[in-house]
Amino acid sequence: MNKSNNSKEPEQTANQGSTKDSHWLDMISMAIRTPVFDHQRSVFTNRTMRFGQIEAVGFDFDHTLAVYNCEALDALAGKLVADRLVEHEGIPREWLEDLPDLSFAKKALILDIDEGVILKTDRYGHVLRAYRGKEKLTVSEKRNLYGDRDIIPHVTDGDRFIQVDHAFSRPEILLWTALVDHTEAGERRSVWEKIRKHTDTIHRDNSLKSVITANPEAYIQQDPRTEALLLHLRECGKKVFLLTNSEWEYTHAMMNTVLGRDPERGTEWLDLFDLVVAEGGKPTYFDASSGRTCKPGIEDKILLGGNLTEIEERIGCAGPEILYVGDHIYADLISSKRNVYWRTMLVVPELEEEMVVQSAMPGLVRQLREVDERRISTEREVMHWKAVEACLQSIEGVVEEEKKGIKNLRLECHSARKNATDTLKAFIRQREELRAKLSTATNEHWGSLFRAGNELTHFGRQLEDYACAYTSRATNLLFYPAGHYFRSSMDYLPHELESM
Ligand SMILES: [Mg+2]
Repeated sequence: MNKSNNSKEPEQTANQGSTKDSHWLDMISMAIRTPVFDHQRSVFTNRTMRFGQIEAVGFDFDHTLAVYNCEALDALAGKLVADRLVEHEGIPREWLEDLPDLSFAKKALILDIDEGVILKTDRYGHVLRAYRGKEKLTVSEKRNLYGDRDIIPHVTDGDRFIQVDHAFSRPEILLWTALVDHTEAGERRSVWEKIRKHTDTIHRDNSLKSVITANPEAYIQQDPRTEALLLHLRECGKKVFLLTNSEWEYTHAMMNTVLGRDPERGTEWLDLFDLVVAEGGKPTYFDASSGRTCKPGIEDKILLGGNLTEIEERIGCAGPEILYVGDHIYADLISSKRNVYWRTMLVVPELEEEMVVQSAMPGLVRQLREVDERRISTEREVMHWKAVEACLQSIEGVVEEEKKGIKNLRLECHSARKNATDTLKAFIRQREELRAKLSTATNEHWGSLFRAGNELTHFGRQLEDYACAYTSRATNLLFYPAGHYFRSSMDYLPHELESM
């Protein structure tokens, strides 16, 4: 009995071990065969990039590595600027209390600072939506103001149109929208300039940053993947650097919280970086001819200001060997791309939000595309019948026996044109309904950040032109191996799509 029991024990143990092993094996094999792929956390590629050929990865700090609790941050900045407008400019407090909701202030809107109008345009500068204060402009009001002009920020009418593309700018849009309702034509530019001046002041005089650094957890969304990403990149042999416009004191005060560490842990976080550049002064930082030179920081690997040649010399690589990840389309991407050919990745948090909305309406985008394709082909059919009808109308001098035949042809064409026109109207109606559904689901005031009707927005075009890749959070890079081949999707011309 004992022998029997004894002989069974090792068997049971082996089976238990085997069950345990196969449990883990099952998990691993399941993970390999059905990889969890969160589409909303993907990196999307405009320009093919071999990650294995990237020798160094640089990060911006604010809104890139440091993910802010935007609601708390915007409320704080808005209050500080409003207080200054009341105190220094004599603006009645009650004018600043009726602000639109936060969703009104989107990134990449264009401000007409002379007219007090906020615009959304397509990639060519055609105005699609516009608000003056909280009032949406009608089609005829838009036409009266802008006609068929293309509105390109800083190009059309000098400094009249500006693109608000900084995540810190949302409170400015909300305050200006509220004040436009209380100002007359001719005063709106000066109101905008006052808001700008006081916004710059609260960022410069430490009044904003002192509140944030006193309670960083209230303003930062900690992401445990941030530290994991920095470690992963360095373990893969890539150099990692930080390049921020923020001051060293602020960056240092916030970094431990950003990494989810105890804020009292001092400068240990520096071990995660090969180089840290604070007070970078982007976009000028990317201009090697600016003559700016860096000042030393408290440690050898810290530089204050300067220009990009110092980074390239210190980390020992240059140009397309460097990937820079930032959230500001102009200061982080356009300047680095134009001047130094660094590879670029734009962080667009709004992307995740839009993809969640779209995934809740499966098939809507595909349906819209199909209806649009059918609309275009029906439009051609209508034009064809119109042209044939015009030809038939122009026929003169026919003999009596041909007249009946011509009349029948005219009737036939008229009927065909009418049918095609009715079908076209139905497609246009369907398309408008689908577009409105998609657009208001994303943002009831402005629709998508990336799309304006059939076209990309002005921001969408900049994203396509200057971001080699884009994603909703910097830490999404962690989902990709160090040698990943970021492959761009096939780009088609209209005639190629026609033959598909
Ligand atoms: Mg930033």
